[in-house]
Amino acid sequence: MSDHSKPLLKILVLGDCGVGKTSLMNRYVNKHFTNMYKASIGTDFFSKEVVVNNRMITMHFWDTAGQERFQTLGVAFYRGTDCCVLVYDVTSPKSFKNLNLWRDEFLIQTSPRDPDSFPFVVLGNKADLDEQNVPTRVALHWCKMNNMPFYEISAKNGSNVEQAFEEIAKMGLEAV
Ligand code: GDP
Ligand code: MG
Repeated sequence: MSDHSKPLLKILVLGDCGVGKTSLMNRYVNKHFTNMYKASIGTDFFSKEVVVNNRMITMHFWDTAGQERFQTLGVAFYRGTDCCVLVYDVTSPKSFKNLNLWRDEFLIQTSPRDPDSFPFVVLGNKADLDEQNVPTRVALHWCKMNNMPFYEISAKNGSNVEQAFEEIAKMGLEAV
């Protein structure tokens, strides 16, 4: 590859239905937020070009509806993922607990050579809400144990979103 090549990163976005995956994509890619709830059917696709470490890269985001976990997302959905983003809702302990299942499912489907060092990033979304039922220290602890970077973010007001995605791009780039 020449220095002018434009790496393409495949980023998978996983998490329970309603945690805000699609809203987050719309915030980051389209700079837009809506309170309307429209469940994704199958997978949604978003693309964004960014500059990381002075390199132009294209990020392809694969976003899915959470309830599809135990149906067939298909091998193509998981194949070639450079970074896996695990999203939960800070007001929902269940969505946090389920990150274990999402991670396990991802690892089962992709069987990476070194599962312990595969790049995951954890995002606690809806940090704009007062009702924070997943304490930050609990989430931090789980992320430390699993060696995953962690950000509390809000797709609604945009807080920490740019920082989180810069990390996601960097982790994905290291994996390529
Ligand atoms: P998905 O099923 O994971 O794709 O979740 P959606 O993006 O469809 O969002 C589910 C609901 O949560 C919608 O009503 C969104 O408006 C709302 N939502 C998403 N992100 C945020 C956020 O950061 N803060 C708040 N307060 N609500 C959010
Ligand atoms: Mg969605």
